[in-house]
Amino acid sequence: MIGFGFDVHALAPSQTLVLGGVTIPSELGTIAHSDGDVVFHALVDALLGALALGDIGEHFPDSDVRWKGASSDVFVAHAVDLVRAEGCSIVNVDCTLVLQAPKILPYKQQMRENIARLCGLPLNRVSVKATTSEHLGYVGRSEGVHAWVVCEVQPA
Ligand code: MG
Repeated sequence: MIGFGFDVHALAPSQTLVLGGVTIPSELGTIAHSDGDVVFHALVDALLGALALGDIGEHFPDSDVRWKGASSDVFVAHAVDLVRAEGCSIVNVDCTLVLQAPKILPYKQQMRENIARLCGLPLNRVSVKATTSEHLGYVGRSEGVHAWVVCEVQPA
């Protein structure tokens, strides 16, 4: 089964930028109830989507104080548990992150390692790609960051 997830967060000064579980030095960070990690949030929706288990908002509502400032590791770990509870395992994860700045190249390997650890995958089944939006749209104006994630899940 294929799962697909998308997430976006607005960027603002004096906020922390966490992407794929990596805290990245940046003048701008995400505005969010949790840590605003768009890669992990899109990953959660991809994992849930593969098995039609709803979306991140249903499992971790913004209104719940337990998730205020939460590390998104918790959300991914829960989604992985749900996949396993359905008798399935994850085959691979492919992420595309879109932001104008800073450059993501130095952090991609750590993001892959974080995702591999949380999903119980070897590194060669976890892809993290990053691109700018060529200064176009809200991402190009550094008003936001977004991510798409696709995963495959199979019966264990
Ligand atoms: Mg989000």
